[in-house]
Amino acid sequence: MLPPRGTAASLAGDPARPRLLERYARFLPLTSATPRLSLGEGATPLVHAERLGAAWGLPNLHLKLEGSNPTGSFKDRGMVLAVAKALEAGARSIVCASTGNTSASAAAYGAAAGLEVVVVLPAGRIAAGKLLQAQAAGATVLAVRGSFDDALVAVRALAGQDEHPVTLVNSVNPFRLEGQKTAAFEVCDDLGGPPDVLAIPVGNAGNISAYWMGFRAYHAAGAIDRLPRMWGFQAAGAAPIVLGRPVEHPETFATAIRIGNPASWEKAVAARDESGGLIEAVTDDEIFAAYRDVVRHAGIFCEPASAASLAGVRKLRAEGRLDPDATVVCVLTGHGLKDPASGARLAAAAPPREAEATLAAVTEALGWR
Ligand SMILES: *Cc1c(COP(=O)(O)O)cnc(C)c1O
Repeated sequence: MLPPRGTAASLAGDPARPRLLERYARFLPLTSATPRLSLGEGATPLVHAERLGAAWGLPNLHLKLEGSNPTGSFKDRGMVLAVAKALEAGARSIVCASTGNTSASAAAYGAAAGLEVVVVLPAGRIAAGKLLQAQAAGATVLAVRGSFDDALVAVRALAGQDEHPVTLVNSVNPFRLEGQKTAAFEVCDDLGGPPDVLAIPVGNAGNISAYWMGFRAYHAAGAIDRLPRMWGFQAAGAAPIVLGRPVEHPETFATAIRIGNPASWEKAVAARDESGGLIEAVTDDEIFAAYRDVVRHAGIFCEPASAASLAGVRKLRAEGRLDPDATVVCVLTGHGLKDPASGARLAAAAPPREAEATLAAVTEALGWR
């Protein structure tokens, strides 16, 4: 017999690595009845990318490795709270639309909590690893003919009807952004203050909004004495906020940000404007170059969408729009292993060499003699 819903998952109470919901409880909408669910999300590394930063003329470049979350993306920070609150409210089912990572996260947290999980995805447009994660965890996967934006319209309607009560866990669920804002706290805690610039990919625009909420909350609480500038980057083929109008057929190989009509559009614009920041576009070629260079020169394999933050920072530095002494944090939102098809484009440049298993043959194959 499995234990009752909501009690299945918990860490052993390691004081050096407290559960996310407990570490930042005073900033989160928890009650005594909210299950302290955890799969070990949060407390992700902040890495000083010294070699990459030196090459780009940015000695204070740091990378926030959100791919180190349990399902390999930052979505876990918001999902843990959204699912905990769904349990608290007595839900039995959760539903989401997804470009992939939200479904992987919902499937995992739903499985841990004993909930039915339905994920609605744009057919044929999900990176293989993400789809597999949702299936492996036992979610019901529904592929709809259309874009992510179409899928989101469908699940919002599904969650609004009465016959089959189901909790929507997309980022329009306010608990998602509340949970995601904890990443801003961690950045400040690890740096000993806020960065000058926080650079982040923008798709549905929830995460940039959540970080800004987090920085403002820390500022209001006196934990930091100034605020960073928020720099958001969209893919050029899916840049509705940059263009100022929805994009009907968004296109980019960075599937996690292939979104034409972001749900948190206004919040993202407010984050940009209130912080004195910007939201700009980077091309797929620029994203790909950053995706390649961050693993080649910093050892961090992120997914393509994540590299949009790096591509943008690199470009603005090259254009002289970023002070070389600035402390910059690029959020690397998801893990590279999520998207083996894009990874294969990197691997194609370095095919394995074959040799007999002898010293002579191996040194020969390596070109060492
Ligand atoms: C969801 C996601 C994004 C986009 O975040 P939004 O909150 O939708 O702007 C970027 N990168 C990855 C890896 C994601 O999973």
